[in-house]
Amino acid sequence: MTKGLVFTIQRYSIHDGTGIRTMVFLMGCPLHCPWCSNPESQGTVQPKVWMKNKKPETLGRWMSVEEVIREVEKDEIFYRTSGGGLTLSGGEVLMQADFASELLRAAKELGISTAIETAGSLPLHQFEKVLPYADQILFDLKIMDSARALAIIGDKMSLIKTNFEAALRTKTVQLIPRVPLIPGYTVRQENLEQIRDYLKEQGIHELHILPFHQFGSQKYEDLDQAYALKNTPLLKKEDVEQIREFFEHSALNVVVSGLA
Ligand code: SF4
Repeated sequence: MTKGLVFTIQRYSIHDGTGIRTMVFLMGCPLHCPWCSNPESQGTVQPKVWMKNKKPETLGRWMSVEEVIREVEKDEIFYRTSGGGLTLSGGEVLMQADFASELLRAAKELGISTAIETAGSLPLHQFEKVLPYADQILFDLKIMDSARALAIIGDKMSLIKTNFEAALRTKTVQLIPRVPLIPGYTVRQENLEQIRDYLKEQGIHELHILPFHQFGSQKYEDLDQAYALKNTPLLKKEDVEQIREFFEHSALNVVVSGLA
């Protein structure tokens, strides 16, 4: 029986797919985005220990597909009334692609709509395991310049583009590109232009932007890890508006969604 390492299950989310969602967060991520709000999920797929209120706490619980589905089904009434469902997030969902695939398939068999959040940063054969079972893919585009992406977050643009374009070819999936707006990292004129050009090239008409927040900062302290964006101020409302207008000028429909 395939088991997955889950670090949180969060109910009643309204920013991560259509309607009211139950979010299942999976451990493991190959990237190291300096702004990451789930730093506890980074690295290999294994439980971690952090200090919470001066006490050690283990993060990550191995769960079977059936156990997770039992939790997800508890909110079935909300899915029916809002058009919501299950969203897998992380970490990077593709780090546990076999488990994610089984979980998504089980949800779909029960008539529950499925979504994943991904940065698409693993090889295509991993991505292809989840593709047939995801109704929506919330696909993060972060730093488009290959050298900067590799140096800053450890991302390979060739993988991202291969996966993004594979999802686009799969007509059954609703692909939603999302850009976390991180001052000094993703929010740089040349990066925004590269994102715009790539989306236009791919024939995309909708983009979600996620303003930077500081919700994850306490986690760095709990992990005894340095947080590079500790003193980075939030974007002003007018800055977000300016970015929205920039993309809208290129005929992209922009949704200011949740937070990065
Ligand atoms: S891809 Fe997501 S989970 Fe992974 S390091 Fe970046 S922000 Fe964190």
